[in-house]
Amino acid sequence: MRGYGRMRFENENTPKIKISKALLKRISSYFSAYWKHLLLVLLAIALTSLLGLVPPILIREIIDKALPGKNLHLLALLTGASLLATIFIGLIGVAENYLSTWVALHIIYDIKNAMYKHLEFMSLQFFSQVKPGDVITRMTSDINGIQDVLRNTVINFVRNILVFVVTAAALITMNWKLALLGLFVVPFFTLPTRRVGKVRWTIASQTQEKLQQLNQIIQETLSISGSTLIKIFTREETEYQKFKNLNQDVTELMIKEAVAGRWFRMTMSIFTTIGPMLIYFYGGYLFIQDEISVGAIVAFVTLLSRLYGPIVQLSNTHIDLTRSLALFERIFEYFDMKHDVEDAPNAIAMAQVKGEVAFCNVSFAYQPASPILKDISFHAAPNTMIALVGPSGAGKTTITNLIPRLYDAGEGTITLDGIDTRQISLTSLRAHIGMVMQESYLFNDSIRENLLYAKSDATEEELITACQKANIHDFIITLPDGYNTIVGNRGVKLSGGEKQRIAIARVILKDPSIIILDEATSSLDSLSEQLIQEAMEPLLTGKTSFIIAHRLSTVMAADIILVLENGRIVESGQHVALLQQGGLYKTLYDTQFRSHDH
Ligand code: ADP
Repeated sequence: MRGYGRMRFENENTPKIKISKALLKRISSYFSAYWKHLLLVLLAIALTSLLGLVPPILIREIIDKALPGKNLHLLALLTGASLLATIFIGLIGVAENYLSTWVALHIIYDIKNAMYKHLEFMSLQFFSQVKPGDVITRMTSDINGIQDVLRNTVINFVRNILVFVVTAAALITMNWKLALLGLFVVPFFTLPTRRVGKVRWTIASQTQEKLQQLNQIIQETLSISGSTLIKIFTREETEYQKFKNLNQDVTELMIKEAVAGRWFRMTMSIFTTIGPMLIYFYGGYLFIQDEISVGAIVAFVTLLSRLYGPIVQLSNTHIDLTRSLALFERIFEYFDMKHDVEDAPNAIAMAQVKGEVAFCNVSFAYQPASPILKDISFHAAPNTMIALVGPSGAGKTTITNLIPRLYDAGEGTITLDGIDTRQISLTSLRAHIGMVMQESYLFNDSIRENLLYAKSDATEEELITACQKANIHDFIITLPDGYNTIVGNRGVKLSGGEKQRIAIARVILKDPSIIILDEATSSLDSLSEQLIQEAMEPLLTGKTSFIIAHRLSTVMAADIILVLENGRIVESGQHVALLQQGGLYKTLYDTQFRSHDH
């Protein structure tokens, strides 16, 4: 299994991202849906880069013709035209900016939706391995980072290239000797770019890594369970120091990154002043030789800034592009993770099921190297109760996870009504299965909303009936807000027994044919246990149920008891027969069940 969520910045000295054709192709595929908008943006950019030539050229005419000829009319005409061109550039710029922002944000919107959907269908394996802050970071700051790339980097890249080409062409047409001199400085720009690019890359990747660690600390420690743990072990100061140190690293790195940028800009500005100096010097010489007018020199220098501006920005583009490609890589890394459990190409939907479940030589491993379930076979007839017993870690939960295909079996087959569950669509398979775990998960919403999760169109009456059956209605109505009570993070405002009974009500509402239930252990008081016990009865009647059993009454009522040890079924049968065998079940009975039920 791959190391989910590992950063890609292993070697921090060299940017790892290769600007490969495949990567660019993949990125550009996000743009293709918006090609019409992008064509308009391109047109607008082309128009503004051409219009940008107008004012410098008009300056030449003003200096060479209007001023020496003392022609006020021509002067007004030329300055007016220059003003008009500038206004036009501004207006087109606004429209172009709106369009490119629109496209960028729509691409972000598409990527975010696709990512959410992709992650929703990731296997439980993924969620058990991924670092807590990683999903949030990729879904928010990474994707938002791209926004900047699309809006600024890519669009500016095109703009700068166009402006450079148009200006260079204009300069060469005006005077090729001067143009060559101006362009001569250009290669020097690229010298510091690579070096600075590498430095900034290194810092940026370190910052990213540290930020992610910071996110992880925040998520882990500032949560209900994390905070409880910190309080109990009085680790506030240690955790604070850890946070503070990391925060300090991030701050220092950010300062370093900003300063690296400063030096870069300073070097650039030196190069940008050398160009005009050379033009004034050599242009002046040509003027003295009567080869060129004063207006042409001024126009040239003005145009030169239009040449260097793009170059300065293009060298930044390279840095931004490298950085943003890293973001794309991180996003693609998630997209490339396969969904382990998926629908078969022509999976069937089962509207009704009898609830017959069979395991045939099933083996399973979370990690290839350590098999958990070995050669599990059993048959559960419709409307029967199967109790799973065995020491902790024997594989009971794992067996129940395989039935709704939360994980897929490695070897062997699991069938529902005689059909391989891998041939049944996940939606219809899971529609027939209800689960009540020991630790029931509730969303931080009202009790009502948590119940409606099972059946969104349930009526008030159905809700109440389900809660009455689950023995929780009487409790809910004693709450000040009744069914509208907000349960807190993961249902923290409710006791374990109350949460479990709400979870039972939720499954009663869903009314599936197969029930999977992890029975509460002794952590509950006897009243809660009794309430739950009563709640389970209507839940289980007429269903096929798999119960991870901790109570004597359950195993005694079970049609089949599967006794598990180290991932194998070592004994199976009914209570009395198993007791007589005097094996593991007998030991469990003596140590666990008997003491549990008075
Ligand atoms: P039981 O329910 O009988 O206590 P489980 O089915 O929960 O046992 O676990 C069986 C074994 O599988 C244990 O050794 C446990 O450590 C391992 N295990 C459970 N879940 C995972 C997981 N997501 N990844 C890796 N190993 C796991």
